[in-house]
Amino acid sequence: MYAVINLQYLGMDKIEHIGIAVNSIAQAGNIYEKLLGTPIYKTEDVASESVKTAFLQCGPNKIELLEALNDDSPIAKFIAKRGEGVHHIAFEVKDIRVEMARLKGEGFVLLNDEPKQGADNKLVCFVHPKGVNGVLVELCESLV
Ligand code: ZN
Repeated sequence: MYAVINLQYLGMDKIEHIGIAVNSIAQAGNIYEKLLGTPIYKTEDVASESVKTAFLQCGPNKIELLEALNDDSPIAKFIAKRGEGVHHIAFEVKDIRVEMARLKGEGFVLLNDEPKQGADNKLVCFVHPKGVNGVLVELCESLV
């Protein structure tokens, strides 16, 4: 007998966005606008992560450019270690708490115990890259 609670909420819905660490949104934004043929539609500072973000739409998905606001920012540390490039992949989920519990049960290590306020009006949680073959994964639940 299978448990039926919240079964409709299990699993990831789609790739919501791909996060790219950049030295300068002013510089990278120009390149990504040319690449995708669409303008940045939103920029937002996320104080809790010490990052400035900029978003571009690409069909049903987004590209999130991430620039460090200071040297303590995780993005500054990432760039110092690995250079600019793909930083994380974000998956959209319907109920972030349900999904966090599912992933914990599967043995993944979550970087925060409670969902936190992310950019673009989302609740977010990060999954440690060590358990995901080196890829930092973000879960996000839309608050709109
Ligand atoms: Zn993100």
